[in-house]
Amino acid sequence: MAEKGVAQVWRRIKSVYNIQGNHCTTCGTYYFPPRPVCPNCRRKGNLEEYRFKGLGKVHTFAIVRQAPEEFKRQVPYIIAQIELDEGPRLTAQIVNCDPEDVHIGMRVRACFRKIREFGQGGIIVYGYKFEPTMKVTGHD
Ligand SMILES: [Zn+2]
Repeated sequence: MAEKGVAQVWRRIKSVYNIQGNHCTTCGTYYFPPRPVCPNCRRKGNLEEYRFKGLGKVHTFAIVRQAPEEFKRQVPYIIAQIELDEGPRLTAQIVNCDPEDVHIGMRVRACFRKIREFGQGGIIVYGYKFEPTMKVTGHD
């Protein structure tokens, strides 16, 4: 029972440390989140697991200035739709970036941050966030 629990947690941690999707070798399309079937190729599709490199650019973004109580300390923060270099888009928070400096097309890379911790010695949940690949100059 206890061992099974540990294995489940470990699997979960492994998946949150990676941006795991898949790739259709028939048409070359990348998917995130992974698809059970390639919508382009249907039965001719051949899907393989793919771990994204975590590099991309800002497609759209919003500055969040109002947040639920538990996230209030982080306001204002940046939520962006990121276009990964492989093609798929995903939504994530951008960190290590001044809200005044974020712009469409800005290069970003995934970084993994602790989101919350449950109890003492409990389960730590990690999730991906993105940060600029280059330090934005002009502020500091
Ligand atoms: Zn396909």
